[in-house]
This record gives sequence, C-alpha cells and structure tokens, in this order.
Amino acid sequence: MNARPTQRTEAIVLRLFDYGESDRIVTFSTPEFGKLRGIAKGARRSKKRFANALEPFCRLEILFSRRNPDSLALIEGAEVVSHYPRIRADLERTLMASYLIDLTDQFLPEDKQNAALFTLLESFLGLIEAGPAPESLLRFFEMRLLKLAGYDPVLDRCLACREPIENGNAYRFHAADGGLHCAACRPETPEALPVSLGTIRTLLMSRELEADRLGRLVWSGQSADESRRLLARFIRHILGKELKSVQVLNEIRRLAK
Ligand SMILES: [Zn+2]
Repeated sequence: MNARPTQRTEAIVLRLFDYGESDRIVTFSTPEFGKLRGIAKGARRSKKRFANALEPFCRLEILFSRRNPDSLALIEGAEVVSHYPRIRADLERTLMASYLIDLTDQFLPEDKQNAALFTLLESFLGLIEAGPAPESLLRFFEMRLLKLAGYDPVLDRCLACREPIENGNAYRFHAADGGLHCAACRPETPEALPVSLGTIRTLLMSRELEADRLGRLVWSGQSADESRRLLARFIRHILGKELKSVQVLNEIRRLAK
C-alpha cells in the first residue's frame, strides 16, 4: 500500500544544489504548497526522467510525494511548461530573472499556500521573456512583492502627521519606519532618503496598474534612480542583508555605462 500519494503541482525552480553522487535538491515556488523543497533522485544521472527541467527559473509541472508537510518531498517527475529561451539567451534578462527568483525565495513562506506570490513571479518572468525588459519592471515587481508579503511601504502620507502627500512639500523615506516623513515632521538624518513627489506618485501608480501595461510606464532618470535606491534600502532593511543578485545587477549596470 502506498502511504504517500503522488501530488501534482505547477512549480518554478528557485534554487538547486547537487547532493551526493547523483541527486539534486531543489526549492520550488508553487501556488498551493508555497515554498516546496524536494529531492530529485538520480537527477544528474538519468537525463530522461528530468530532461533539462531542473534549472533555475524553469516553469514546470511536477509530481511529488512526501510523508508530511515538514519532510523533504520526493520529486517523482517534472515536465517543462516554459524554459524561457529569450531570458536564457540574454545576460541582462537572466540577471533580472535571477533577482526576481532570489527575492521570491526570501519572501515566500515555507509550506504556506501563497498563490499570489507564485502568480506574480510567473507573470513577471513572462513579461521579461516576451517584451522589452526595462529596469522599471524590477521596481514594479518589488512593490507588488512587498505588498503581497505584508511589507507595503507607506508612501501616500506622512507617517507622523498622517497628512496625504502634497505638491510643494519635501519628503524623505525612512527604511526603518517603513515609509515617508514630511520635512516638517522629521529633521534630516543620514538614514533618510530624500524622494521627489514624482517618484512617489510613480511608485504608487505602479502598484495598481495591470501587469501588461507596466512596460509602457515611462520613468524619468531621477525617478528610476530614486526608486531603485528607496526600494533597495527598504528591502535590505527587511531582510537584514543585501542579496547577491542585486550586487551582480549593479556591477553589470556600472560596466554598461
Ligand atoms: Zn508630517
């Protein structure tokens, strides 16, 4: 009798490493099971069973079984839904996708259903694959991810006086407080990041816009810089560290200038 029924789910590969002589341990994002970790036995030896399915940011259908939700799943099979060939053929797209994967890995709770986070990653990988992939897509992803993960920054009002943002006022972002202060409420400090109203409005708007219209939202150079810095600082504060994929992205950007 089989005590461990086989289950099927959609999955995106977040991370993997080789284990023992021929196995591979893989972390997936899934809609129903949140972050799922499993072992693919013989994955490096048997090319047939897993083909090229177990690669970072590959979108799959997997079959797995496990004793209980806390135990490592046994990956019984994997079928590729999308390999994202255009992302893989292009260094910059690959780095962007790696960053999205990294962020999802950090924010996705283990074994807690979060279909919205799965869908977010899936739709943004689709955008990077399909169209032009401007850097602003990363900001939109960050804003949406933060919201879904419960870390929505307060950008529509001052955290202290609670007055809605207004033309003519100066604002600064405080990562430790998770939002804005107007200049009247808080003196300037080294940790505070000055941020223009245009940037704030763009970020607020980007949260609501339909995903397929995001590619058309145009950023000024100032908004692009400010929002990159604001979100990078906020995410670093939440995670307590800088992600390696951010450093790589920054390095590439510097070289490309
Ligand atoms: Zn205020």
